[in-house]
Amino acid sequence: MQKLYLDCDGVILDTINNSYRMIKEKGITTSDEINEFYQNLNWNDLIRDSGEIDNSIAKIKKLESYFDISILTHVISGKEASAKIKYFKKVLPNIEVIIVPKRIEKADLINPYSSILVDDFVPNLEKWEEKGGISIKFSDTGKPCKYITISDLLELKEIDFKNIV
Ligand SMILES: [Mg+2]
Repeated sequence: MQKLYLDCDGVILDTINNSYRMIKEKGITTSDEINEFYQNLNWNDLIRDSGEIDNSIAKIKKLESYFDISILTHVISGKEASAKIKYFKKVLPNIEVIIVPKRIEKADLINPYSSILVDDFVPNLEKWEEKGGISIKFSDTGKPCKYITISDLLELKEIDFKNIV
């Protein structure tokens, strides 16, 4: 089965938009303050309050019969890692969650060769493709970029990956 790695923040969960909103509300502007904000963030609350993007969990369950899926997610704190592991164990018990410390590239922790990565962050996709992986951009606005772009996870079923590899 084709290996598929799914990013979490900004693909499965709406944690990016939600935390940016919190940062804006707090009036935080410097990168030090932003780092501190993320270090101290209660990730259990953030995950609960942010929720899924467009019923992503039900869609991933549907994709499980087409792909060998893992979640590949960057974290900046142990609290973030444990909150994500706890959440996915509950909602997607059959899916492996791979935690990547922020300082390490996803494409350095995993061998991307012939595997798909769906991510909303272009630099992750660039490194992935450089190392022989298949990069798919997730965009909730559907804004096109140099990679195949999807705005709905179920679109993955329609892509002819055999002709891309
Ligand atoms: Mg992301």
